[in-house]
Amino acid sequence: MVTIAGIAASRGFAAGPVFVHRPDDIIAVPEYEIPPERVMSELDRYHAARAETRQQLEALIAQFKDGERHGVDVFVNHLAILDDAAMTASVERLVRESRLNAEAALRRTVAEFRAAFGRMHDPYLRERVRDVDDVERRLLRVLLGRDENLFSQITEPVVVVAADLAPSETVALRRELVLGFALDRGSATSHVALLARALGIPAVVGLGDVSARVKPGDDILVDGTNGAVTVNPDVKTCAEFARLVRRERELYALLNEDKTKAGATRDGALVRFCANAQPGVPMGGLAAFGAQGVGLYRSEYLWLACDGEPSEDEQAAAYSEAVRAASAMGETARVVFRALDIGGDKAMRSQGVREPNPFLGSRSIRWLLAHRSTFRTQLRAILRASAVGPSAVLWPMIATMQELQEANAELERAKEELRAEGVAFDEQMPKGCMIEIPSAALCADQLARAVDFFSIGTNDLVQYTLAADRGNSAVAYLYQPTNPAVLRLVDSTVKAAQAAGIPVAVCGETASDPVLGSLWVGMGVTELSMGASYIPVLRKVLRALTMGELREMANQALAMGATSSAAEIYAACRAFILAKVPQLEEIQSFFTSS
Ligand code: PEP
Ligand code: MG
Repeated sequence: MVTIAGIAASRGFAAGPVFVHRPDDIIAVPEYEIPPERVMSELDRYHAARAETRQQLEALIAQFKDGERHGVDVFVNHLAILDDAAMTASVERLVRESRLNAEAALRRTVAEFRAAFGRMHDPYLRERVRDVDDVERRLLRVLLGRDENLFSQITEPVVVVAADLAPSETVALRRELVLGFALDRGSATSHVALLARALGIPAVVGLGDVSARVKPGDDILVDGTNGAVTVNPDVKTCAEFARLVRRERELYALLNEDKTKAGATRDGALVRFCANAQPGVPMGGLAAFGAQGVGLYRSEYLWLACDGEPSEDEQAAAYSEAVRAASAMGETARVVFRALDIGGDKAMRSQGVREPNPFLGSRSIRWLLAHRSTFRTQLRAILRASAVGPSAVLWPMIATMQELQEANAELERAKEELRAEGVAFDEQMPKGCMIEIPSAALCADQLARAVDFFSIGTNDLVQYTLAADRGNSAVAYLYQPTNPAVLRLVDSTVKAAQAAGIPVAVCGETASDPVLGSLWVGMGVTELSMGASYIPVLRKVLRALTMGELREMANQALAMGATSSAAEIYAACRAFILAKVPQLEEIQSFFTSS
């Protein structure tokens, strides 16, 4: 028996036989010099392989049904890589000038791309190297006349163990046959982590060399909640794990008891539970968690996936598909499209020079207002999607009233254009403002007059209030959602919104924490938007508390600011809820948000 610690990428427990996936990612590539008279035919051979690879990808895209956007996105990205002018030019140059055979020219080109991606600061973009590898593998297989080798051998439920999984491989997986993932590499933002979380498959990544340490026939336990796997567990460990699996199932069944009921407190005050979604992760399963709409659609992932600008039609197709998928969550379920929130930790290569302090630089609405044609194109696409079903637009990173007014004006201009062109859209589409910068929270009374709703982005609000980078572990101790300053900002934002008669949502990660989510509701927030699988937890906890109790807890938390630390305030709120919901302790140990 051996236990290996890794990164908890998707919560939950899984036990089963190992399926070791060893893709032929180290395809042996012959390297030889071609005579000058063969240069043209070698180039033809390469272009024929590209054409065949294109056909394969198009056939894969055609297999996907409406609503399965994730799969389509992956292969559409692969088509874009296949057509990348720089990549093709490099292969052609190596064939022409260095007289390399096509396979070797391709391998050398991809090695250069891989090195460039690997140097990137942004973990999301670093992950995109996997797509380039995928396309290389496909092209090499065609050039060398080899078959595809995806997960066709899996016929029984298994835990998939691999060094890593390329996006196209995860797409080919059948959900019912995959109990869990255990991967050598990967990060919390890798494709497989996002996909596993969206599909509710337990996953541990960053395990080092687990794929080398297992063999077919081994058994493995995957603890995606705590980030560990155990290979060939002894009887005692198996029994303990089986108890955890059973208990998690029981708890989840308990949490899901009232899945069909609308979210509400014990005394019937309505709370709307929405899912955070992004292009690239299927939305089909969100309704099963009881999501009542998409409270935050992170549109920037469309840009990050191709590191370029998706066209208006591409965007309109993606947004419309999201609206159609949301209709499974109910007639009034809407999708809140956040305008491109690029910059900060989500930098694009095409944005140009990296700023010295990107979190305080030209990001989000600032960047959009400086790049009007991108902004206008996106607004036109969002408006077009609003003709398909309930939609809203959300302005990210608003710092001043002038930015908000400019964004609203740009929306009006986009509407005018569409009207003139006779293109359908929802004239009443609501517009909202994210409150994630202290200046916006402090002037919420003014901003509230210019929008239909607020959505508090606590991920950024906490980091900007405490001046503590949300991704920097050295200052993680200062990243305090219950810091008295944060509580005051949330409280005054809600009060300003109530005075203006507009609703307030919280769409930051804190919404998925049962203590913090309850605290926000106690302060007057009426919508919580989070990773969908956490909705049942919040629904259960809030159903056990009355609005009066929640308000009392929020008032106590605010009052404690004078004498208590953030940790003490959190502990007091937790104790308050625990006294009324004794299951909270156990629920938190199984369904942590980290
Ligand atoms: C937030 O800041 O809380 C938020 C939801 O936006 P993001 O995490 O995408 O920055
Ligand atoms: Mg944010």
